[in-house]
Amino acid sequence: MHKRQHQQAYDRTRGTAQQRGYDADHRKWRAAVLARDPICTACGREPSTFADHIIPLKQGGAKLDLANGQGMCSRCHQAKRGRERHQEQAPAARWPPKRPG
Ligand SMILES: [Zn+2]
Repeated sequence: MHKRQHQQAYDRTRGTAQQRGYDADHRKWRAAVLARDPICTACGREPSTFADHIIPLKQGGAKLDLANGQGMCSRCHQAKRGRERHQEQAPAARWPPKRPG
């Protein structure tokens, strides 16, 4: 009766990739996005190294839809992520503009 041990080992090997959010489907989606957009869609110069979700998953974007994917270089991707983070933290950041004089 070693069924329980066997099951635990199976879950361990199967779970690691999914815990990081990079399962087989996601890898396929990423490869397809990079194949379609080999050059960064943001700056149009650097080779794409990231498959970015146009609509972030947090905002209800489709995770595995090519239409919601765009290839980006690491710099543009980081800039986009930074903007998104900023928007999350301060969705209605308003400050009174200074009047000249
Ligand atoms: Zn770029």
